[in-house]
Amino acid sequence: MIENTVPMEKPKVVEPTLFELSSPGRSGVTFPQPDVPVASLPKSLLRKELPLPELAEVDVIRHYMHLSKFNYSVDGGFYPLGSCTMKYNPKINEDIARLPGFAFTHPLQPIESVQGNMALLYTMQEWLKEISGFKAVTLQPSAGAQGELTGVLIMRAYHQSRGDTKRIKMLIPDSAHGTNPASSGMIGLQIVQIPSDKHGNVDLAALKAECDDTVVGLMLTNPNTLGLFDEHLEEVVKTIHACGGLVYGDGANLNALLGVLRPGDAGIDLMHFNLHKTFSTPHGGGGPGSGPVGVTASLADFLPAPIVDIVDEGDDDIPPLYGFINPPKTIGRVKSFHGHFGVILRAFTYIAMHGPEGLRQISEYAVLNANYLLARLRSTYNVPYDRICMHEFVAEGMVEGSDVRALDIAKRLMDYDFHPPTNYFPMIVHEALMIEPTETENKDTLDAFAEALIKIAAEAKTNPELLHEAPHKTPFGRMDEVKAARELVLCCWLPEDYASS
Ligand SMILES: *Cc1c(COP(=O)(O)O)cnc(C)c1O
Repeated sequence: MIENTVPMEKPKVVEPTLFELSSPGRSGVTFPQPDVPVASLPKSLLRKELPLPELAEVDVIRHYMHLSKFNYSVDGGFYPLGSCTMKYNPKINEDIARLPGFAFTHPLQPIESVQGNMALLYTMQEWLKEISGFKAVTLQPSAGAQGELTGVLIMRAYHQSRGDTKRIKMLIPDSAHGTNPASSGMIGLQIVQIPSDKHGNVDLAALKAECDDTVVGLMLTNPNTLGLFDEHLEEVVKTIHACGGLVYGDGANLNALLGVLRPGDAGIDLMHFNLHKTFSTPHGGGGPGSGPVGVTASLADFLPAPIVDIVDEGDDDIPPLYGFINPPKTIGRVKSFHGHFGVILRAFTYIAMHGPEGLRQISEYAVLNANYLLARLRSTYNVPYDRICMHEFVAEGMVEGSDVRALDIAKRLMDYDFHPPTNYFPMIVHEALMIEPTETENKDTLDAFAEALIKIAAEAKTNPELLHEAPHKTPFGRMDEVKAARELVLCCWLPEDYASS
């Protein structure tokens, strides 16, 4: 643990780039003698000033190994980033994804030659239907937000197909994920924000006041971003259906519900899954996700095309033949080929490894872990909507008698080797710290994290500067995050004269 003193000098780390390590004549490759006549390249292809660093292989490896240690990862430590479900990703997912039969197939191969992949996609659709209670599933969308976009396009197409063209309003609670209004806004819908009541539920009176025949539907994040299950879910769904609207469920939070509640059974009309969250595929840093969408029977005809289906049942001797079908009223294609196959495959492995009982256990432990942390922390940090939480909870990042803010607490946690929680979201909690431990952490880790937060609250009173200037232990100190966002430098490795030429 770090000393309880404020270092006088901020850490200043200037990393040498490969160019600065370069020395003329060093090389990491030896070319064999050519066994064909040497030809000269056309002049136009040769760049005289092409700056390539000259280094041995070992220098390059050490450089990148060194840089890689600056990254915080879920394989390196606890990552309670609320709403992101940074659970441990079992390595068997990677082993399966690397099997040559999967890794070396091409999406343009003849369909008869990829029947194994097709069977896998089909089975995944069936499993997601079983898990969620929906009647049909598309695996195309490439992430949660694209699943939402697919969903709102389906909602609009459904209303239009019935000649119901005056529906332009999407109702979105203020406790929804930020991508919900963004997805509806993208297709030009009017967003109407519905406030939360004092228990963190959708305010029913406010919802009813907005329900009329111009409503496309409601986008419900449930559990919401406070980590709370809406206590009036049934009535919320009934209210929207009564005015002819559809209920979209944000299923990125399925980690709290597996094997416990099927959104399709609860009256939700359609929902996206975040395979990269709930079903454990690596995510973050803009890497590929997967956001399949499940729908009720009455919306199945609108799903993106194509969908994998059994096109010939076969018989005792001949296995079924899988092919693609186009739903009759499809909104069209939302993603090239068949979605992110490699991510779907990892999620498939995860579901297969756990089975129904295992999936239910995931949610039970995710909820238990969040409630354990909540119980340990609620006397230190104020929790404005304090009731039994689901997979996460939101506390106020403030300490009485100190001027520290959520950001200071989050940065100080890095000195204790923890990834900070999500902060300043949801916006209905002042100085929000949104904590999602996930089911993969043991009690020792949860205790160490709670103790770090309790210790930080004490530091906030006795030595607030320590927090204001945190982090102290990381290779780089407190960043100017606004400047970093506004003046983004994406290729700092280029030698100056080359970059400016
Ligand atoms: C993560 C998340 C999303 C968006 O998913 P992406 O895959 O990041 O696009 C939507 N809603 C909720 C509740 C989420 O947690």
